[in-house]
Amino acid sequence: MKILQIAGLTKRYGNITAVNNLNLEIESGSVFGILGPNGSGKTTTLGTVLGIIKADSGNFTWFDGKYGNQERMHIGALLETPNFYPYLSPVKNLEITAHIKRCSEPEIDRILEIVNLAQRRDSAFSTFSYGMKQRLAIAAALVGNPEVLIFDEPTNGLDPQGIAEVREIIQRIAGEGKTIIMASHILDEVEKVCSHVAIIKRGNLLASGEVGAILSNDRQVDIAAEDLGRLRELLANFPGVNSIKEKGKRLQLQVSQTMTATALNKLAFDNGLILSHLAMKPKSLESEFLEITAGK
Ligand code: ATP
Repeated sequence: MKILQIAGLTKRYGNITAVNNLNLEIESGSVFGILGPNGSGKTTTLGTVLGIIKADSGNFTWFDGKYGNQERMHIGALLETPNFYPYLSPVKNLEITAHIKRCSEPEIDRILEIVNLAQRRDSAFSTFSYGMKQRLAIAAALVGNPEVLIFDEPTNGLDPQGIAEVREIIQRIAGEGKTIIMASHILDEVEKVCSHVAIIKRGNLLASGEVGAILSNDRQVDIAAEDLGRLRELLANFPGVNSIKEKGKRLQLQVSQTMTATALNKLAFDNGLILSHLAMKPKSLESEFLEITAGK
């Protein structure tokens, strides 16, 4: 099922186009990263599909329209850290969240297990570290057992241990079959946590698809010879060729960065094959990534 379809979404602030004619489809069960540098339109996109920000044009559909205008009940979101009562425990705070969400069976103990806060269930919120506060915010988004979770930069401001913990929690939530949509400016984070990614810059979508295909360091090669079967056999055992797909009368390869056209040509030639086509595709997105933080 399509969890979210966005078609032609545009949002302007004065003469700034925060989101420009955005088209996206998010499948159920994916961990979908929206990756882009600061100011690229990630928060505006999330705010729009949550109904907090009104788009200038375009539209979006949640859950294939299954829930009509009750869709919001099935989405848990963490856009900015919510306010919690400092002198109350996480249990009490989540009970209040459940009350606001009109959720009669909030399963608070189960949620506190997921976010690694079960041991602190009765401590006052004011005694929490920043990382614990962020985990409680994730817990609040989980109240009501939503099918989709939206997280805007969920690891921002956390120390390395806190980052690792939140990433683990996200994977745990995904493991329960939930769909997760998260904004990030950290390439490494999206590579580690997400199954799918959309890369945006200045409101424009640069690429979207499976993380392996979009963010891999592999280069793509189109190659052909008359005896395609034999060429495929040779390539299958050639170090540096990571995958082979047949596309019509050509093969499409993912090869490691160090692979050269000469090496492929020589392989064919040494085995009595003449290549009729050989094209190494440059990584067109590479320069776009330079503005996106690669580290933690
Ligand atoms: P960040 O990671 O820094 O939050 P982002 O990718 O989430 O960045 P947005 O916050 O969506 O980006 O901002 C996109 C653009 O729209 C930016 O140029 C920003 O300055 C502008 N913008 C966002 N909100 C407003 C607003 N309320 N009024 C005017 N301009 C805005």
